[in-house]
Amino acid sequence: MASSARNRYLAAMNAPAPAPRQRKPDWIRVKAPTSHGYAETRRLMRSLNLATVCEEAACPNIGECWTKKHATVMILGDTCTRACAFCNVKTGMPRAVDLQEPEHVATAAAELGLEHIVVTSVDRDDLSDGGASQFVKVIEALRRTTPNTTIEILTPDFRNKSEAAVTSIVEAGPDVYNHNLETVPRLYPTIRPGARYYASLRLLESVKRQAPHIFTKSGVMVGLGEQRLEVHQVMDDMRSAGIDFLTMGQYLQPTPRHATVEEFVTPQAFDAYAAIARAKGFLLVAASPLTRSSYHAGDDFRKMQTARAAQLEQARR
Ligand code: SF4
Repeated sequence: MASSARNRYLAAMNAPAPAPRQRKPDWIRVKAPTSHGYAETRRLMRSLNLATVCEEAACPNIGECWTKKHATVMILGDTCTRACAFCNVKTGMPRAVDLQEPEHVATAAAELGLEHIVVTSVDRDDLSDGGASQFVKVIEALRRTTPNTTIEILTPDFRNKSEAAVTSIVEAGPDVYNHNLETVPRLYPTIRPGARYYASLRLLESVKRQAPHIFTKSGVMVGLGEQRLEVHQVMDDMRSAGIDFLTMGQYLQPTPRHATVEEFVTPQAFDAYAAIARAKGFLLVAASPLTRSSYHAGDDFRKMQTARAAQLEQARR
């Protein structure tokens, strides 16, 4: 046996057995996806060669969302250059950027009849602009093909890329700019080792400064071992960066190789977090065990519009 293979073999033999997975509480159970709408959405995504975060991240809401033909498209391929401890998307050297992808996303939006679309991507640290120009092309293709579809983007952090990358996306004019902080800063070295908490926060702050009319949104997962007061501090940090919309959901361990669930946070505790967040001044808060950043995104977009209109009306009086 070659020495590197032998070392890997010995490491595997000596590795501690993975901790047994906690049983999911009843409030986390979801139905297996079987509907006609689910099958239709799946067929369309396959035919257009589009990846979705719904499948790649093993999202528990896929049955519900795809039945309603809501899918979150994942551009720039299905392979990520980072290896976050919570994420099921595969890590490696991604393939070349698909030049047809922007048109395919627009076709999917048209065929699904989407009023609101969420577009996300893997991290592409290998590209000089982190993939920002592909986001711009997707936004432009959507505006051409389905001008009435509102557009929400959920981007990587563009760490170590120039400020111009983010500016180009802002100038393309999405309706919502989302970037998830994911967890409290103390847990970044283990949960999100390739990212920096304050860099992510600054990205969202910069979007809001450049285009105050664009709704900004960010999310955290709970159940990773964070403390309640640490979550409250994240809320304060988000508010000081001008973030409009906070989403909070339960972290679920996708495979035994990923970070373990430290706690299943009860629906009552989510309600308490939501009450605190509203008191801190977010325009909108979605917090429940199954909340994901793109869950009910279209409905929530309309709620944000209504809340902002009410806020402006109040300011005028
Ligand atoms: S919550 Fe988002 S990621 Fe999950 S299935 Fe729905 S659209 Fe897809």
